[in-house]
Amino acid sequence: MRPAAVSEPLRLCVHGATGRMGRALLEVIRGRGDVRLVAAVGRPGSPHVGRDVGAVTGGPAYGVAVIDAPAEGLRACDVLVDFSAPEATQRLLAAIAQYPRPTVIGTTGLTRPIEAAVRALAERVPMLLAPNTSVGVAVLGELLGIALGALGPDWDVEIVELHHRGKADAPSGTALRLARLVAEARGLQAQGMIVHGRSGRVGPRPAEQVGVLAARGGDVVGEHTLWLCGPGERLELVHRAHDRSLFAHGALRAACWLVRQPPGLYEMRDVLGWSARGATATVGRD
Ligand code: NAD
Repeated sequence: MRPAAVSEPLRLCVHGATGRMGRALLEVIRGRGDVRLVAAVGRPGSPHVGRDVGAVTGGPAYGVAVIDAPAEGLRACDVLVDFSAPEATQRLLAAIAQYPRPTVIGTTGLTRPIEAAVRALAERVPMLLAPNTSVGVAVLGELLGIALGALGPDWDVEIVELHHRGKADAPSGTALRLARLVAEARGLQAQGMIVHGRSGRVGPRPAEQVGVLAARGGDVVGEHTLWLCGPGERLELVHRAHDRSLFAHGALRAACWLVRQPPGLYEMRDVLGWSARGATATVGRD
């Protein structure tokens, strides 16, 4: 698939439009002139299907009805943004195989088979896997790489994430991504290196271990804290999401960038111009 001639404003389809992130996207799109919502895909059987998506967000009419067929949305758009659920993303991928469109996948908790399907599609469609579409988190990943390079292997890394009580998957895709960045930076295999919490007589901490701890509560949009603990000192890198709109802004920035790229598998650092085309780390679960 060649980078398509891009329409102005960019025609966008939101998959998972009636969820928390879908609504945040719709709010942000309203205020922008460079993107236009042309399709909003919801869950089959949802009471929202057939209604104007504006009503779903509690705002004025959008003139776009919620549909439940991803293929219909793909046919109408230049680029699709997905914030749904892993099973829904899987169904979406089957539709993209038929109607290829550049796609930003923000859904987290993807299994390895789903990621493999994304990778296969990326050979002919621009695909962007972004378990966190925040630009700040992309910068956090780069800062982590710089810190690890300078501090050396003696420093222990622990990652703590905190999210709202409704989050379906744990740990967050972002925490896993950050843990895998540590493995990459140290030239180690992530598998077996990451521990998810500790309990009982666990003994001393192996140097290469990365602890990933997930906390859940209230309406916290998302926090990631990296502890880098060295002899006699500790460095903390923290990212706090205050408002879901930040993910929407990042996803739209990614969509506007992706639509001009050749086929490949991309991540947020590519959007910021930091890495070679096609490089990506996996976050999938078995
Ligand atoms: P949510 O539960 O509020 O919304 C999910 C939406 O997907 C719902 O509207 C649901 O109806 C819809 N859906 C379910 N099955 C569907 C199907 N078959 N077809 C179309 N839509 C379907 O969840 P949310 O908080 O909006 O988060 C959605 C996803 O995005 C989650 O995986 C979450 O972890 C992830 N997320 C990612 C980021 C990021 O920066 N990448 C940020 C926040 C949330």
